[in-house]
Amino acid sequence: MVDTSAAQAAEAAAEAVAATDPAVTAEIGVIGGSGFYSFLDDVTEVTVRTPYGAPSDSLFVGELAGRRVAFLPRHGRGHSVPPHRINYRANLWALRAVGVRQVMGPCAVGGLQAEYGPGTLLVPDQLVDRTKSRAQTFFDGEVLADGNVPNVVHMTFADPYCPTGRAVALAAARGRDWEPVDGGTMVVIEGPRFSTRAESRWHAAQGWSVVGMTGHPEAVLARELGLCYTSMSLVTDLDAGAETGEGVSHEEVLRVFGQNVDRLREVLFDAVAALPKTEDRACLCVRAHEGWDLGIELP
Ligand SMILES: [Zn+2]
Repeated sequence: MVDTSAAQAAEAAAEAVAATDPAVTAEIGVIGGSGFYSFLDDVTEVTVRTPYGAPSDSLFVGELAGRRVAFLPRHGRGHSVPPHRINYRANLWALRAVGVRQVMGPCAVGGLQAEYGPGTLLVPDQLVDRTKSRAQTFFDGEVLADGNVPNVVHMTFADPYCPTGRAVALAAARGRDWEPVDGGTMVVIEGPRFSTRAESRWHAAQGWSVVGMTGHPEAVLARELGLCYTSMSLVTDLDAGAETGEGVSHEEVLRVFGQNVDRLREVLFDAVAALPKTEDRACLCVRAHEGWDLGIELP
């Protein structure tokens, strides 16, 4: 008896990759909740399969201020995928597969310093990875479902965020009279639980600014694909080490996010409209692959 299951799986994966509708393209990606696109007209839902598996959800592609934008619900619709189980590789690959080259990543974070209270918008310029179980690279030298084998590469990641995207996001916030915090360090924890007080005090004592659960490996995977990535971090609570109450609750996070989602969307959309055209990008992200033989074709 011949075991054909592996071959069939590879064939199915290759077919699924090829099935991406070539007519639906986008230049800018937004990884965030349905609150960001649910009211847009003429949104096309596109299912994309990748050599790294399935993304969190379909892409929702539409037009915004004359730009083609693909929205991807990071946790899937209905918030069904916890941070540590998000297929970050598939999410970024899927965006690139429809043409996206610049990604905005709005997210909810906890403030680690007393001055970064709920409602603060912070555009970080550094990150610290404290995650534990996540695939952090496309280039791990293993055979992909489509039969290709990526080489091992080591990306430069000293500056994890796109400087152009950061400047655009900051200007967009100021344009809406929402003075943002320019720079700071996001520490990304594994979750899904929130930090203990000891962990939180330690994070704060390092001088780090905010804590989140999804900012990594999103940023590094974008860099590996030569995509620009910008985090727009909305503080929904003071983290356990910076407050004196009962600690962070999910209800509180949702409440504050709900209060700010409208203006965050306004700033996000202004930023999307102001991003450079794909061919005009002149940032370090574009040069990520210089000197490397990736071993695989990027979509
Ligand atoms: Zn860039």
